Amino acid sequence: MSKPDIIGAYDYYLEQKNKVHNQLRDTQSAGRMSASSSGQCSKKMWYKKYKPELEEPFSKQLLRVFQLGNLIGIDLDAALTLADYPRKYAEDYIFDRELNIGGSFDLLIIDEEGKGYLYDYKTANQWAWTKTFGKRRPIDTTSGDHYRFQLGTYGYILEKNYGKQYGLRNIEEMALIGYNKNTSQINKVEVSTQYILFAERYWQEAQKIVDNPIEPQQSKTVPYTDWDCKLCNFNKVCDNPANANYEGVIHETKNTK
Ligand code: SF4
Repeated sequence: MSKPDIIGAYDYYLEQKNKVHNQLRDTQSAGRMSASSSGQCSKKMWYKKYKPELEEPFSKQLLRVFQLGNLIGIDLDAALTLADYPRKYAEDYIFDRELNIGGSFDLLIIDEEGKGYLYDYKTANQWAWTKTFGKRRPIDTTSGDHYRFQLGTYGYILEKNYGKQYGLRNIEEMALIGYNKNTSQINKVEVSTQYILFAERYWQEAQKIVDNPIEPQQSKTVPYTDWDCKLCNFNKVCDNPANANYEGVIHETKNTK
């Protein structure tokens, strides 16, 4: 027997897990845009719809990062189950037909008056945590804004379509629960319910881009933030002027080999 490959085995496990997760997500979403893409470049969604074969897979390291987030989410869910909130919902898939969007929220708690408390869990390294969740973050920080849009999207879908199903009158509070991977600090950062309206406006703009088969040019939502291109799985093939990672001719040469 050769020496056991512990890290290789873990990475293989995560790859298989990711495949199953993607299959489940594709079945649930039935072609809808994902709430987690909210507040990001809408051309990414255009690529996923019209040229999915160009998407680069997630790196092994990124899959490990996602898994750590999943594990914290599982723990928090168990804690909330123990805390015994009678009307607690977790990981439910919700959608809106009109805007063609859907996604699974992390946590919704509803009180006896029908007020909803909506939360999303996020893990972050020290640098990102300080900017997004730290007590001394700048008052006007836009770091992690797409997380706020994501919550706003869930809030929008819930208020519009799921009042009766959940006995929900309105979303009273939205917040991100940030977990610092370096120090294990946890902080709750409230998100204005105004993001419900902002998210609706974002999706109305994004829908115009995604519904048009012609490759989108630079616009209000392409890219949406300075960070979008850096972390984009299509940045090797996208020739948007804001994208510094475009491989252009090099990439085309690779593809014709
Ligand atoms: S590289 Fe930039 S502009 Fe192109 S799809 Fe990705 S985020 Fe959007």
